[in-house]
Formats: sequence, structure tokens, C-alpha cells
Amino acid sequence: MRIGIGYDIHGLKKGRKLILGGVPIPSAKGLTGHSDGDALSHAIVDALLGAAGEGDIGDHFPDSDEKYRGAASSLFIRRVRQLLQKRKLKISNVDAVVVAETPRLAPYKNAMKNALARALGVRPTQIGLKAKTNEGFGPIGKGQAIACFAVASLRG
Ligand code: MG
Repeated sequence: MRIGIGYDIHGLKKGRKLILGGVPIPSAKGLTGHSDGDALSHAIVDALLGAAGEGDIGDHFPDSDEKYRGAASSLFIRRVRQLLQKRKLKISNVDAVVVAETPRLAPYKNAMKNALARALGVRPTQIGLKAKTNEGFGPIGKGQAIACFAVASLRG
């Protein structure tokens, strides 16, 4: 069994779309970034790459590369899925935490889980997803950013 950890944080800005786990979520502010800013997908990609011993998201999808400008992060997930297939590694489970003060994410958790399961080629029951606030503390608590943590385990 192989285990990997991933973390990501992106700033929130008015006028950007909020996408988490590949799901568009109604919000006045969205995540900034070179791609679609989907910090949850980025944390999961890093957890999977870490478990596989294949570097990190910046090695595979550099933000200096114009072809990833505005890219849907589900593309990164599908690419990593192909890399795992090539290595004959299977995803046992993925567990993630999204720390966001607003909007309230509970109503979108199932949609995010299903979208991530589809992109990863696993069952929704292989994905854990928690939505927390930061209890008002720090920049996340003030609604300036959203942070995500992820753990992935692979078998091969
Ligand atoms: Mg990122």
C-alpha cells in the first residue's frame, strides 16, 4: 500500500467562478489561479502523485505553461489517472478536507464526491469529503482564501 498527502490554497476573488472538485458552486467570489483554481482537485492530484512517487502537480502541469491557462482541473485528475494505470497502481481511497468560510458547501458535497469519483474512475464510496469552516480565524476565516487537504492510498 502507498499513501500520499496533498495540500493547496487559492485566493478568492470577486467575478471568478468557484469550482471545487470539478463542480461549479454558486458564489460571489471564486478561486484565483492559472487553471480554474480548483484547490480541491489540486490537493487530490498532489496526494495521488505523492503516493505514486511521481513528483507534484507543478512538475506535471507547470503554471508557466500557457496550455493550462483556465484549464479544467478535472483534466489534471484524468492525466494522473492515466499515469497510475500505466504504473498498474489502483486507487484504494481518497480522503479530503475543504476549509472554506463561505459559501456553505454541505449542499454540494455529494455532487463533488460524484464528480471526483467519475474523474478518478472509482466509486463514490472510495471518496471521503469534509467541508469545514475556519471558525473565522485568519485569511481563510475572513473569506480571502480556500484551503484543501487530501490523502490518497494506492495499491499495486
Ligand atoms: Mg493549486
